[in-house]
Formats: sequence, structure tokens, C-alpha cells
Amino acid sequence: MTKTDILSLSFNELEAEILAMGEKKFRAKQLFEWLHKKKVTEFSQCTNLSAQFVAALDEKFCLNNLKIKKRLVSSIDNTVKYLYELPDGERVETVLMSYSHGNSLCISTQVGCRMGCAFCASTKAGFVRNLTPAEMLLQIYETERDSGRPVESLVLMGIGEPLDNYDNVLKFLYLLSSPEGRNMSLRHVSLSTCGLVDRINELAEFKLGLTLSLSLHAPTDEKRSAIMPINKKYCVAEVIEACRNYFEKTGRRISFEFSLIADVNDNRETAMELIKLLKPLSPCHVNLIPVNEIREGGFRKSPNVKSFQKFLTEGGLNATVRRTLGSDISAACGQLRRDNI
Ligand code: SAH
Repeated sequence: MTKTDILSLSFNELEAEILAMGEKKFRAKQLFEWLHKKKVTEFSQCTNLSAQFVAALDEKFCLNNLKIKKRLVSSIDNTVKYLYELPDGERVETVLMSYSHGNSLCISTQVGCRMGCAFCASTKAGFVRNLTPAEMLLQIYETERDSGRPVESLVLMGIGEPLDNYDNVLKFLYLLSSPEGRNMSLRHVSLSTCGLVDRINELAEFKLGLTLSLSLHAPTDEKRSAIMPINKKYCVAEVIEACRNYFEKTGRRISFEFSLIADVNDNRETAMELIKLLKPLSPCHVNLIPVNEIREGGFRKSPNVKSFQKFLTEGGLNATVRRTLGSDISAACGQLRRDNI
């Protein structure tokens, strides 16, 4: 019999399992706290549970860990990049960053990615599988254990397309914000997507406090389709409409990510098209990312970041340039890989 992965169970699911084992209801609360607040790595560490109950838990459930295969510490800033090995031997990367408002963790949601964005390293070696809710939580728990730094905010911007792993990501968010467990406010979480329109619309219905970051990178279908294959499925107008709907339903302003690539999307004409596209969505935010060069090549950082930002600001858009962290350890946007050994 395969054991149930206990960290992927919601509080209600765990409670039902514990009751079915003939234990009292309050044991579920104790156990959930051990798992998600105290972050035990073995059932035997739950000191207020009887030896008999611990043995029964070991029999029925598995409590997984991630192995640190590599830890790189930036010498420029406080960024740490982890290469984690998952229980089945697959690997993902996770990045811990330090900001004035606290520590932020960038987690992966899939092993590889099938979205095929031309400038992104994470998609180059293809897609292997989705991460489970437990594997997403464990990136937080293991990083906190190893670094001794508490994770105060979270970005789903590592390897993978979160909305392509929709059910597991939703369950992960549910677990993360469970009052019986970690109780993290989803206002401290950003989810970045290349624009899976149907899923954005579904997510909007939950009215979560989550910030939606939309990877736009080009304001017209011609330009966007040339660098992001997903645009052939959902065109710019559809993506923008889904963002408008998300904002309307949740009240959370949308953050648009725009990686500036030399001679691709960094001229004045593109800035004007972007203003025309996004003005009706105000208040929104444009996050300019000087593109990070990857070893496959093909794209160069734009030298026009400041002037592009100025065009947008003068056109009435709120635009900032994202600080690049961990560039000396390839920990910046779009540089994470599952095959980094
Ligand atoms: N799949 C999700 C999350 C991935 S990465 C998404 O597409 O949004 C987070 C951000 O980094 C995305 O906006 C992505 O487009 C951007 N990115 C990818 N490669 C990059 C690169 N080489 N330089 C700068 N940003 C990049």
C-alpha cells in the first residue's frame, strides 16, 4: 500500500484520517501544528503524541524532506539559491532574497516547464512533472530550517507555470494560509503567470488576496507571439481582459512584468503601444526587468531601461525597475534550471 503524503493534506482531510484511525479530534490539531508550524521532519519529534500513535502514523503516512544538492550564496547581496532534490530524485531551484521589508522566497511549481518562452532558461530542458502541494511547502520549510531566516513573503516565480499546475497550486495556497497551520496571509504572496486566461478567470472567482503578476513582455500579438508561444493560444486582448476581470473581482491591482530585451521590445514605439494597452487598466503596475542573459543566448539586455521607464511614467503608467538579485549565482528571473548540477 502506498503511504499518503501527509503534508499535502488539508486540515479537514487530516482530521478525517485521524478520526478514522480511532484517535481523538484534538490530535489532528496538534499534529497539523507539528507539521506546519514547528516543521518537524519525523513523526517521532512530535513529543506530545504517544509512541503508539507515532508508530501508526509512520505506517500510514509519509513525511517527506527535500535534500539540498547545492547551496550558492551571492557575494553581491544576501541571496541564496538552493538546488533541491525531491523525493523521486527530480530537482528544482528555490531562491531566498532579502529586501528591506523582509525575506522573500521564490519557489518553483513544476519540474521544468512546457510554456517555451524564448528567453527563459527554465523551459529549455522541457517539462517533467508537476510539484505536489507538499513539495511547494517543503521549499519554504527546508529553506527556513537551513538558513535560519523566516520567510515573510513568497513569489511563485521559480521554475514552472503555476497555473499549469492549477489544482496543486491552489491546494498549496490553501494549506499555506490555513489558520490551523502556518496562517500566512495571501497578501504576502505573488503568483506569476505567462497568461493562462481560463485559469486566471477561475482564480478570480476565489477572491484571494493574492497579487497576480502577468508576464506580458510585449504589447502586440505580433511581438508577443514571437517570444511567447502561449500568445498563440490566448492573444493579448484576451489576457488583458482576464486581468481586468481579476482586478474587478479581487480589488488587487495587477503587476505586469516586462523583460526589456535589446532591439526586441525596448523602443519608444513599444512603450507607446504599452501605454495604450495598459492605461485603461489603471491602477496597475509595470515591473521592468532588464532581461537576464542565459547560456543558450539569443537575447541581450536592453541599454534603454531608464528611458523606457521614463516613457511609461510620462504616459501615466506606474513603472519601476526590478532590482536584480543573485546575478552572480544565476538566481535572477528566468535563470533557474532543474538540471543545474
Ligand atoms: N511561468 C511563470 C513564472 C516564471 S518566471 C511566468 O511566466 O510568469 C518569473 C518571471 O521572469 C516571468 O515574468 C518571466 O517571463 C520572467 N523571465 C523569464 N526569463 C527571463 C529572463 N531571461 N530575464 C528576465 N526575466 C525573465
